[in-house]
Amino acid sequence: MKVFVDDDACRGHGVCLAACPEVFDLSDGGYAVTLVSEVPAEHEESVREATAGCPERAIRLG
Ligand code: SF4
Repeated sequence: MKVFVDDDACRGHGVCLAACPEVFDLSDGGYAVTLVSEVPAEHEESVREATAGCPERAIRLG
């Protein structure tokens, strides 16, 4: 499973980081970045939770 953050949609709430800090981080500018493009199997569930919980629907799975 691949994961991307839509930079135009992200508003830096950090919900994703709270849900899965192994995959998401906040940049110096305060917006989410992904630490990996391919999600390790053990983190897929928490990445799905982050995706569902993102208030801006800025996380895309592939
Ligand atoms: S939860 Fe969504 S809007 Fe908030 S930082 Fe993460 S990707 Fe951006």
